[in-house]
Amino acid sequence: MAGTNRVDELRLGLEATRERIDHACQQSGRSSNDVTVVVVTKTHPVSDVEILQELGVTDVGENKDQEAGPKREQMTHQGLRWHAVGQVQSNKAKTVTQWADVVHSVDRVGLVQAFDRVVVPTPIQALVQVSLDGDPDRGGCMIADLAVVAEAVAGSSTLSLAGVMAVAPLGIEPSRAFGDLWTISQRLQADFPQAAWISAGMTQDFEAAIAAGATHVRIGSAILGNRA
Ligand SMILES: *Cc1c(COP(=O)(O)O)cnc(C)c1O
Repeated sequence: MAGTNRVDELRLGLEATRERIDHACQQSGRSSNDVTVVVVTKTHPVSDVEILQELGVTDVGENKDQEAGPKREQMTHQGLRWHAVGQVQSNKAKTVTQWADVVHSVDRVGLVQAFDRVVVPTPIQALVQVSLDGDPDRGGCMIADLAVVAEAVAGSSTLSLAGVMAVAPLGIEPSRAFGDLWTISQRLQADFPQAAWISAGMTQDFEAAIAAGATHVRIGSAILGNRA
């Protein structure tokens, strides 16, 4: 969209995405108010984040600690909620707490222990990432390990258990994958009623995620365009 003003570009991206979300909510009898959009701003400049904030965005997502910390610091206005959506190395737990309000990718007890060595003023909301196909490459704990990771998060003073997260595996129909995630979430909520968030769905598959009950969708390129 060369020649187009970036504010207009982002406004159009947001409007089109919100329309798609509203439509998906209508189709499944849900309220759009029950779906939080996390705008994934990774690789895009801080100026984009500031424009998004002016356009009414409340939640942004980043996947790299070394990029997200400086970006948050450079913001003219605070007030956005920052979500860490990428895999977190244990030695980055401390710096992640310096910029993230929510961590979507807690997938092992060792990482919870690393967070527990950090003292924070208010606990960080944490989602346990689940691997729906058992392939650990894209992060996420095995479904069989979810209970033990969730237990650790629930007992943490740095993290506060808020729900589950998943990325749709390659080669599985997203609606089936997200349906599985919904079932997993229901089971978890039987033990931990506070774990009600379901973070699922990206540009390619967020409609399927909303149909399957996602409470948080993580959308980048549909709003900001392709990443360099
Ligand atoms: C980059 C990223 C997204 C957003 O992806 P898009 O396809 O650009 O919407 C969502 N979730 C995670 C974990 C990501 O790393």
